[in-house]
Amino acid sequence: MDQPRAGVQYPRSVGELQAWFRTDDDCLDYLEWLGWPDGFVCPRCGHDGGWRMYDARFKCAGCRVRTSVTAGTIFDRTRTPLTVWFTACWLFASGKDGISALSLQRTLEIGSYQTAWAMLHRLRSVLVRPGRERLNGTVEVDETFIGGEEPGLRGGRQRGKKVLTCIAVEVSDPKGFGRCRMAPIEDASASALHAFVTDHVEPGSTVITDGWSGYFGLDRLGYVHDRRSQRAARARGQDAGELLPAVHRIASLIKRWLLGTHQGSTDADHLPAYMNEFVFRFNRRNSRSRGLVFYRVLQLAVDHDPVRYKDLIVTKHPGKTPPTPPTSRGKPPSLERPRADRPWRRADLR
Ligand SMILES: [Zn+2]
Repeated sequence: MDQPRAGVQYPRSVGELQAWFRTDDDCLDYLEWLGWPDGFVCPRCGHDGGWRMYDARFKCAGCRVRTSVTAGTIFDRTRTPLTVWFTACWLFASGKDGISALSLQRTLEIGSYQTAWAMLHRLRSVLVRPGRERLNGTVEVDETFIGGEEPGLRGGRQRGKKVLTCIAVEVSDPKGFGRCRMAPIEDASASALHAFVTDHVEPGSTVITDGWSGYFGLDRLGYVHDRRSQRAARARGQDAGELLPAVHRIASLIKRWLLGTHQGSTDADHLPAYMNEFVFRFNRRNSRSRGLVFYRVLQLAVDHDPVRYKDLIVTKHPGKTPPTPPTSRGKPPSLERPRADRPWRRADLR
């Protein structure tokens, strides 16, 4: 299936979302359809064909092993009902700015902030598709510090830990942006910058950078290197800060998003996950339908390995202090509910 159809393969609106996914079983069936579009295939032996058991798992007709479509995915072993997951995924995918853990907790009556926080991080963890295409054409590359800014009291800004981040953006002639990529880098050395460029930009592309010596040698790696010198710009009477307008625009967008939607509450260890979310949404900003983005997130999720709670809280950088481990986790109620029978009328009859 190349191009999924709106209103058939994915919901177009919150109305369709509610009509399609009324029960946890509806959600499970959708995941089964996404994970096994041509019917059950045993993940263990590859046999196609089996039986659906009373507990909604499948029993392979070949090796007799029981499994489910959620086994080995982010939905595995979570106590969160699928109706809650689907609505969280819709809010995450369909909102122009996504959703914060605090808003998600309040909206879906999730018992604890930690559960909402972990759900959003599980969704973020599936967004980077292995083997995705690198940027190409004409690409601006620059590095900047991101994060570490929290809205302070009395209007000031408290400086926290900032993360040196490299950003690449496709630019079109005469104006406009294509896709972007960003990743934290250790330092602004040639080895770190060259590694970022080769990871994220297709050789043969034109790479525009400033005059920083760390970018020297990109031409030897197969790129057409267009160096824009600040000094030359100043000599021409141009604003040196506008040498790389696309990268600076993306940097200000993500900074604004972190301060706005997330209130600057992102710590340095989780910043890469927020960058992935920002890039995923930015690169789909022209998507015809937000429902299509919802579909893509769930499709990536059923293809993805499970993410354990401790993987989310453990820092990947040895020597740095891990973020505060969330303590309690609450089980949110399913959104599969019996009819409430107009409680506002019944209150009057007392
Ligand atoms: Zn099997």
